[in-house]
Amino acid sequence: MSKEDKPFLSFGAPDIQKEEIQEVIRSLESGWIGTGGKVATFVDAFKKYKGVEHAAALNSCTAALHLSLLTAGIGPGDEVITTPMTFCATINTIIHCGATPVLADIDPVTMNIDPQRIKEKITEHTKAILPVHFAGRPCEMDEIITISLKYGLKVIEDCAHAVETEYHGQKAGTIGDFGCFSFYVTKNITTGEGGMVLARTEEDIRKIQVLGLHGLSKDAWKRFSDSGFQHYSVLAPGYKYNMIDLQAALGIHQLARVEESWLKRQHIWNRYNQELGDLPVILPASTTPGTRHSYHLYTLLIDKNQCGLGRDEFLEQMNALGIGTGVHYLSLPEHPFYQTAFGWRPEDYPHAQRVGQQTVSLPLSSKLTDKDIDRVVQSTRQVLRAKHG
Ligand SMILES: *Cc1c(COP(=O)(O)O)cnc(C)c1O
Repeated sequence: MSKEDKPFLSFGAPDIQKEEIQEVIRSLESGWIGTGGKVATFVDAFKKYKGVEHAAALNSCTAALHLSLLTAGIGPGDEVITTPMTFCATINTIIHCGATPVLADIDPVTMNIDPQRIKEKITEHTKAILPVHFAGRPCEMDEIITISLKYGLKVIEDCAHAVETEYHGQKAGTIGDFGCFSFYVTKNITTGEGGMVLARTEEDIRKIQVLGLHGLSKDAWKRFSDSGFQHYSVLAPGYKYNMIDLQAALGIHQLARVEESWLKRQHIWNRYNQELGDLPVILPASTTPGTRHSYHLYTLLIDKNQCGLGRDEFLEQMNALGIGTGVHYLSLPEHPFYQTAFGWRPEDYPHAQRVGQQTVSLPLSSKLTDKDIDRVVQSTRQVLRAKHG
C-alpha cells in the first residue's frame, strides 16, 4: 500500500470534533478569549460529572498538583510518598513546594503504588500520600485512606489518567483531600493544555484560585466584567495557572462526550485483549471487581527472554510500520536529576524498574477506527511473530 493509504498512526491522537471547533470559533468571534464564562461553564459541567461542589480549572494537572500540595500545607522539611511509576510532574511539584518526594514501589500486577510499601516509608516527616491511578486503574484507596487517617496525612490523587475511574462507588479525585486532572493532548479528554482540581472545601478552592492567578484577590473575569472597575489586592506571590475560555471551549464538548469516548476505548481495549492474548507478552491485568477503569493506557510488557526482542526494538519496529507507541514510564529513579538529588537507585524499586524497561503503550484514542485497530493488531503480531517463529 502507498503512504497515503497508511498514514502514520500517532499515539494519543486527540479526538476533536465539530462541536468544539465551532465553540472555539465562537469564543474567538466574541472577543473574549481569556478566563471567562466558558471556563465557568466547564467547571460546572465537571462538578456535575463528578458529583462534587468544589472545583477549579487550571492550565495543567501539574499546576493542580502544585497548588493542591501548597494548599495542603506541604513545605520544606516535609515528605510526600508517591509512586516511581508516574510522569515526572508528579514529583517535580513536590520538589517545587520545597518538600521531599519519597517513593514506594508498585504492585507488579496492577502497576499502582503498593499500600504495604507506603507503610514502610512513613517517617515523622511524612505529611501526604500522592497516589497515581496508573493507566486509569484505581489505586487501593481503602487501604491508602486507612493509612492516611492513622498517621494524619493528606491524600492528593493524581487523576491525570483517571477522569472516568471509580473505586467502590466513589469517583476518582473525590476520595482524597484533593483530586488533580489533566486535559493534556493525549489524555482522555483534552483542552490542548489544561487541568482541574477538586477539593473537599470551598475555602481550599478559593486558596487555589487565588494562588493560580498571581495571588490576586479577585479574578480577571470579575475584574473586567460589566459590574465596573474593581481594584484588586495581592494576597500572596501567586502563579499564572489560569485556564482560558479557548481551552474551556474544547473541554465543554470533550466532557459532553466523555462516556461515549470511554465506550469506544473499552471496545479497543477488548479487541486488544482478544486479539493479542496468544502472544508471548503480558497484557494489562483484568479490571478489579467493584471498580471502573478509565482505559487510558493499554500497556504490553515485552520481556526480551519471552519475545526475542526488547521493548525498544519493538517500538522502533512498530514505528517503522507506521504505528506510534508510548512508554509510560521509565521508573523515576532512572533519571539523572533524581539520582543526584536524592540518591535514588532504580534497583531499589525493582517492580517499577522492570515495568519501566518492558512497558509499551499501544494507541487507545477514541478516534481510532476499526481499520486502525486492525493495523495495530496486525503490526503487533507481525513484529512479535517475526522474532518468535
Ligand atoms: C500528564 C500527567 C501529568 C501532568 O499533566 P499536565 O496536564 O500535562 O500538567 C501528571 N501526572 C500524570 C500521571 C500524567 O500522566
